[in-house]
Amino acid sequence: MSTSRDFHIPRIGYGWDSHEFKLGIPLKIGGVNIPHHAGLAGHSDGDVLLHALTDALLGAIAAGDIGTYFPPSDPKWKGADSVVFVQQALKLIDEAGYQVGNVDSTVILAAPRIGPHAAAIQRKIADLLGIEPSRVGIKAKTPEGMGTDNAAIAHVVVLLCEINWP
Ligand SMILES: [Zn+2]
Repeated sequence: MSTSRDFHIPRIGYGWDSHEFKLGIPLKIGGVNIPHHAGLAGHSDGDVLLHALTDALLGAIAAGDIGTYFPPSDPKWKGADSVVFVQQALKLIDEAGYQVGNVDSTVILAAPRIGPHAAAIQRKIADLLGIEPSRVGIKAKTPEGMGTDNAAIAHVVVLLCEINWP
């Protein structure tokens, strides 16, 4: 009878996040500055996509969530660049013996349009993760019938592979 130690299993991770739009603050999604009259308020720079990505990465190795390492109550993270959160998650993944295989994501927001920025976001996240852009899926939808036009929502799924396999 085999146990989990006998074979190599990739690991999936899932992350979700949402932030409310606030007038007159910068908008950052996926580490890219996007011109808009409103930005996302809340934890750090409000980068909803990088927060969901961080949670997906941490979830894949069952290492808690973004709040475990960067509590929103800690003033240290106010206005922080969310790239730092992704980098910390990557460090933990490396220590656990895994690397990122691919990522898929969906951002849901009424405005602005993400399409014109999708390639830049894809490149930024690929660089951050140290993988090819062809391994990073960026999709965007409008929140039809959800009543969330003043918020941005992000869902991210990641696949991790063992560093030494095959
Ligand atoms: Zn967040």
